[in-house]
Amino acid sequence: MPARDPRYDILFEPVRIGPKTLRNRFFQVPHCCGFGTVKPGTQAGHRGTKAEGGWAAVCTEYCSISPQADVAGFVCAQLFDDHDVRNLRLMTDEAHEHGALAGVQLWHGGSVSNGWESRLPALSSSDMASQELGGWVVPKPMEAADIRQVQREHVEASLRARDAGFDIVYVYPGHGYLLMQFLSPFHNKRTDEYGGSLENRARFFLETTEMMREAVGDDLAIAARIGLQAMGNESGLPEEELYGVVELADHLVDLWDVAVDHWPDDSSTSRNQPTDHEGPFFPDIKRHTSKPVVGVGRLTSPDTMAAIIRSGRWDLIGAARPSISDPYLPRKIEEGRVEDVRECIGCNICIARGEWGRQLICTQNPTAGEEYRRGWHPERFTQAANAAKSVLIVGGGPAGLECATVLGKRGMHAVHLVDASREIGGSVAQAAKLPGLSEWRRLIDWRLVQIEKLRNVALIPGKRLDAGAIRDYGADIVILATGSHWRPDGVNGVTHAPIPGADAALPHVLTPEQVLAGEKPAGTRVVVYDTDGYYMGVGMAELLARRGHEVVLVTPDSDISSFSEYTLELERVSERIYGLGIDVRTQTTVEAVAAGGVTAAHAYRPGEVAIEADSVVLVTQRVADAGLWVELDGDRDGLAAEGIEALYRIGDCVTPRIHAEAVFDGHRLAREIDAENPAVALTYVRERPEAEAAA
Ligand code: ADP
Ligand code: SF4
Repeated sequence: MPARDPRYDILFEPVRIGPKTLRNRFFQVPHCCGFGTVKPGTQAGHRGTKAEGGWAAVCTEYCSISPQADVAGFVCAQLFDDHDVRNLRLMTDEAHEHGALAGVQLWHGGSVSNGWESRLPALSSSDMASQELGGWVVPKPMEAADIRQVQREHVEASLRARDAGFDIVYVYPGHGYLLMQFLSPFHNKRTDEYGGSLENRARFFLETTEMMREAVGDDLAIAARIGLQAMGNESGLPEEELYGVVELADHLVDLWDVAVDHWPDDSSTSRNQPTDHEGPFFPDIKRHTSKPVVGVGRLTSPDTMAAIIRSGRWDLIGAARPSISDPYLPRKIEEGRVEDVRECIGCNICIARGEWGRQLICTQNPTAGEEYRRGWHPERFTQAANAAKSVLIVGGGPAGLECATVLGKRGMHAVHLVDASREIGGSVAQAAKLPGLSEWRRLIDWRLVQIEKLRNVALIPGKRLDAGAIRDYGADIVILATGSHWRPDGVNGVTHAPIPGADAALPHVLTPEQVLAGEKPAGTRVVVYDTDGYYMGVGMAELLARRGHEVVLVTPDSDISSFSEYTLELERVSERIYGLGIDVRTQTTVEAVAAGGVTAAHAYRPGEVAIEADSVVLVTQRVADAGLWVELDGDRDGLAAEGIEALYRIGDCVTPRIHAEAVFDGHRLAREIDAENPAVALTYVRERPEAEAAA
C-alpha cells in the first residue's frame, strides 16, 4: 500500500475539543439528509460509513429540541424523549465502533417553524415574519417564560444527547434560526435586556450555552455553529459582531463552527462559487478565540486542506458534501490514494433530496443513503457469482461508466465499454461545457481513473454499434446505456404536443445538443424556450448571452429554472441571468415557431405575444434513445442464438432522469448482476414505525 504523502501529515494530527479528542482534523459537520430519527438504521449506516472512512467526528443534521421547533414536511432529527434517544443511539454506536466522535446539532428554528405538525405558534425574538417560509409565519415575540422554556429544552435535549451516547453537542446561533434571531438586529427589535446592544442580543445565546455547560459538565464537548453575514445577505452577524460574540462566549464553547449564515451561499454549488469559497470570509477568527475552529467550503483537495491548517486559518477541515460524495476521503488520503478520492461536483442534488423532506442521494456516490437499506458499501464489492461472463456495455455516459466501474470491481471476466463518441461521458460531458458546470466533469474523471486501474475493463471510444455489431460482438451479457436526446419538435409537459413550426432540422431551430456540438444560432436574437426547468435552459441562455446574443428566456413556470430552488441555486443563477440582460418571460408558453420568431401566450393575460427572434433553442423535454433496445429486445431468440444470455438497459435510455439517477441505475444493475432477475431491482429495507409503538 502506498504511504501517506508527508505533506498531509498535518491533517492527521489529533485535536482536543474540551473534554474530547478528535483523532485527526477531518470533521463531518452537521448536514441534512432526510433520515432524522425516523430512519435510525439509515442514519446510523450513513454516518457510520463515514466514521469507518476515517472522519474524526460525524454529526447529525439539525435536531429539533421541541415540538414547537417544527418544520413538518422537512425531515430533521428530534430529541424530545427516550424513543428519540434509542433511535439516535444506533448512530453513536456505529460512530464509536469505528473510532469517531458523534455530534448532534440541537436546533430551534424560531420563526422558521411552520407548526404544521405541532399546531403551536412559532417563537422568535420579535414578531418579524420569516421570509424563508414565504412570509406567512409571524412568530410570537418570546416572553420571559418562553425564554426560560426554550433554555430548559436546550438543557433537556443536551442531557438526552448524552444518554444517546453523543460526544459533541451543538448550540446553533446560525443559519437564521432562533439563536441568530436574537443575535441579529435584522430579527431582534426588542427593547428589553435581550435586545439592543450586542451584549444584550447575545444574552439569550450566552445564558443558554451556560446552562447547557452546567448540565453536561465535562461529559460532552460543546460546539457552536455561528453564522456570518456575507455576500450582501441580511442573515447572520457582520464580521466584527461575530468576533464580539465569539469573545463573549469563548469560555463556554469548546469548538467554533463558522459558516456563511445564508444557507444558499454557505452550501453554494460549483456553478456559483469555487471550492474554499468561505475561507476569505473568516481571516481573523483565530485571533478572537482560544478554541479550535472548523470551517467548510466544499473542500476536497488535501493540498488546499493542508494549506488551510498551515496558514492557521482553521484547526479542522469541515465537510458536509465532500463527506457524502466520498465517505472514505480521509482514509484515501491517509493511504496515499488521493486519486481515488471521489470529489464532490457541487451540484446540490443531495440537498434537493435530503433537505426537502426526501431521502439524501448523491450524484457522485450512488451508495449514499443506501448503506443500510440496500446494504451497499461505497468501497466494498463482492465477487459476482457470474464473474466468468463477459459484458458489453453500449454507451459511456454516467450510467454506462458507473456500471462498468462496479462490474470491474466485482471481478467480471471482461467488461467492454463502447461509446460512439470519441469523448467519453455522454450527457455529463455536454453539461460540463455550460457556464459554471466544469466541475461536473469529476463525475467522468473519477470513473475513468478507476477503470484505468481495472485490468478487466476496456474502454472503447469512437465506435458506434448497431444491433448487428452487438449481436456479433461475442459478449455473454449486453447492457444498453445509450442515453437520451432533447426533443427536436418541442413536445413538452405543458401541451404534450409538438410545437407548430418547431423542427430542429430547420436552420433557425436548435436543440441544446446542437448548440453544444458547436452549431451557432442564426442571427443575434435567440429565444430559449425552457419547459424543463433545471440547468439546461438557464445554461443555454447564459452561454448564448455570453457569446453576444440577445436572449429571451421563455418558461411556463413562475420562475426561471424552478428546480434550482431545491438545489439552493436560484438566487445566484437569477442574479446572473438578469445581470446579463437576458429578457425573462415567465408563465409564458410558446405556441408556434417561425423563421422570424415565436408566438407565445401568457398563462393568465389574454392575447398573443409575438417575440421576434432569429433562432429558437428548444429545451423542452428529453426522449430516451431506446431504438437499439426495442430492436434487440424484440429478438431474444436471435440473441440467444448468438450466445447472448442476457440483455439489460440502464440510465436515460430507460427514461431520461437526472445524472444521479443514471449513475444509480448503472450501479444498481452491477450490484445485482448475479441476482435471480437483475432487470428488476431487489427490494430494500423500509424503516417504518411498529404498530406496537403507536398502540
Ligand atoms: P446516461 O445518462 O444514461 O448514461 P448519456 O446520454 O449520458 O446516458 O450517455 C449515453 C452515451 O451512449 C452517449 O455517450 C452516446 O454517445 C452513447 N451511445 C448512444 N448510442 C450508442 C451506440 N449505438 N453505440 C455506442 N455508443 C452509443
Ligand atoms: Fe456533492 Fe452533488 Fe453529491 Fe451533493 S449530490 S455531495 S453536491 S456530488
